[in-house]
Amino acid sequence: MMSTHNTVKQEDEGTKHKLEDSPNGSVEKKPHFMAENNGKQKRQIIVPACAPKIHYTPLKTGLCYDVRMRYHAKIFTSYFEYIDPHPEDPRRIYRIYKILAENGLINDPTLSGEDDIGELMLKIPVREATVEELLQVHTKEHLDFIEMTSKMNREELLKETETGDSVYFNNDSYSAAKLPCGGAIEACKAVVEGRVKNALAVIRPPGHHAEPEMAGGFCLFSNVAVAAQNILKNYPESVRRIFILDWDIHHGNGTQKAFYNDDRVLYTSLHRFELGKYYPGTIHGQYDQTGEGKGEGFNCNITWPVGGVGDAEYMLAFEQIVMPMAREYRPDLVIISSGFDAADGDTIGQCHVSPSCYSHMTHMLKSLARGNLCVALEGGYNLDAIATSALSVAKVLIGEPPEELPDPSQNPKLEAIEMIDKVIHVQSKYWKCFRRLGNSGCNFKEPVTESLITKNFPLQKAIRQEQFHQLEKEYGFVTLPIPKLELPEDTVLCSPDVFQESTIIIIVHDTPEIWAKRDVITGMVDPSTSITVDSTLDFIKWSLARKYGVLDVNIPQSLFEQDNYSAMITSQEVLLYLWDNFVKYFPSLSKVAFVGVGDSYSGIVHLLGHRDTRSAVKAIINFVGRKQLKPLVPLVDESLGDWYFKNSLVFSDRNNPCWVDNENKKPRRKFGRVLRCDSDGINNNMEERFDEATDFILDSFEEWSDSE
Ligand SMILES: [Zn+2]
Repeated sequence: MMSTHNTVKQEDEGTKHKLEDSPNGSVEKKPHFMAENNGKQKRQIIVPACAPKIHYTPLKTGLCYDVRMRYHAKIFTSYFEYIDPHPEDPRRIYRIYKILAENGLINDPTLSGEDDIGELMLKIPVREATVEELLQVHTKEHLDFIEMTSKMNREELLKETETGDSVYFNNDSYSAAKLPCGGAIEACKAVVEGRVKNALAVIRPPGHHAEPEMAGGFCLFSNVAVAAQNILKNYPESVRRIFILDWDIHHGNGTQKAFYNDDRVLYTSLHRFELGKYYPGTIHGQYDQTGEGKGEGFNCNITWPVGGVGDAEYMLAFEQIVMPMAREYRPDLVIISSGFDAADGDTIGQCHVSPSCYSHMTHMLKSLARGNLCVALEGGYNLDAIATSALSVAKVLIGEPPEELPDPSQNPKLEAIEMIDKVIHVQSKYWKCFRRLGNSGCNFKEPVTESLITKNFPLQKAIRQEQFHQLEKEYGFVTLPIPKLELPEDTVLCSPDVFQESTIIIIVHDTPEIWAKRDVITGMVDPSTSITVDSTLDFIKWSLARKYGVLDVNIPQSLFEQDNYSAMITSQEVLLYLWDNFVKYFPSLSKVAFVGVGDSYSGIVHLLGHRDTRSAVKAIINFVGRKQLKPLVPLVDESLGDWYFKNSLVFSDRNNPCWVDNENKKPRRKFGRVLRCDSDGINNNMEERFDEATDFILDSFEEWSDSE
């Protein structure tokens, strides 16, 4: 006999361990299980044999594909349409089917659409959606209209094509448009009923632009919306909530509209918006459109303000918005409205999502709803890009891990980071996952003032007071009143007797940066470990050491008391006021240099374009950080542009968007002489270029004295 101590690990000697018959079948009550070994020895069993509790592995991935969907095509009216066909090209689905076969995901060497396609994928037969099914989303009028196209003559079809909103028709359109709808329904059904583990519907024409009462954007019927509506209707017990994720580069206005008042569907779309100018060009795609009535809080638009987004932006949006929200929603089924027009190489989308990024997004979505995932094709017009992207998605569906991202260290565009923050802010009203950190105890509704009326006191006010206090104590600075503008009285500070100086440095800056530590639990800034970093102090000290006069202008970035306050306009007004009422009249003034820091520098550029300051202003130094470059608009005379270029240095952050977008192109001369710092962060930029900036000022001043 072997030891019967039940924690000893035992080797399996090739015999199947058998459970000893136990009268009550309870493992806990009888800890020492023994088994026959070669009919002689009894051996201990630690883990009883049982069938694996895995739901999905043995199942295949469903695939919807049917050659009949290729019959909807544009009627050619010119030779050019043969050589440059309409982007919503019938070959789109064929190319995806082909690449799946080429890579062994399906077995169909003749590419004819066979029924048995091998071990990994299961063919889901495509059928036409019924009228009853279509009416779950669409109006009778819309249905009748699409049906009519099957009987129209060539002229009528061309007329409807011309007058429609980016759609075309032929006599097969009605039938061919009911197929992707029926296909999407069948794909979702197969997933929900557990016949497949997940599904890929390679279908066209696309659907997400088709609104309940009209076609649009290459879409005739709203495939995904029709599928979702019918699944909710037919599986009321097992499917109560559906998450539709639309990663087509266009807003799915049709899908959004179908469920705008419905909390049974969470619709989330990532798309280009560009102030509503990008197709479909309605305000409904804006990030503040969050649903209505019962559907309020169940619509989420993540709107890219610029083109050219790619893996970094999509991964960030998924990690920060899509996944936390979807997990909290707890869907029973996930449908991807899978347009591949955000893919790298698509000339309509002009973005750069890689096939591996699609595989990562699929992988993340697969973690929801116990894997109940159906991917339905929408747009995507570069035939190679949609094929490789769809292949990456399909591989993850059948069980492959996602491919490595080509450049995981890529930085997301600043505009995209800002947008993601805005979306989170809007959605935090509805989703707990966005409210985990911070500010729960802060009442922003209570007024913020500098007096003792309320307990809320603006931090930037305190910072400016401290700046003044130090400059006053150390160097005798005083405030220079600007009574016309309603600004804090310490907005402009100056060195003593500045009006008598012949040389002055005018420093215009934002409120200094705060480097803050946060409490990890509450998200609150901890004042005891936080500091302000004020690099303009170096310029003040340098100027005073050379016996120059100094004007120090602080432009508040916002004012709690003024709703329509604009920092940019304020800096312009302050600078004009200072020039017209003070500086111009300094009796012995001969040399002026400007130093601009942050957004506030726009006031300097504005002044130089609006007044002829050239007899006194010798040098302009600007540190713009990551902020947008400001052009000089020469209102005084045309030659001001050249003068500004020659007499300015504009230091930008290494990561300023002006370099990220055109790596090899220099910004235009109207922005001044723009130089790229090696460092990141405006204070680091100022430290890095301090010597260069001050040397430039000295050179400018001396050149002037030489020519005198
Ligand atoms: Zn699209």
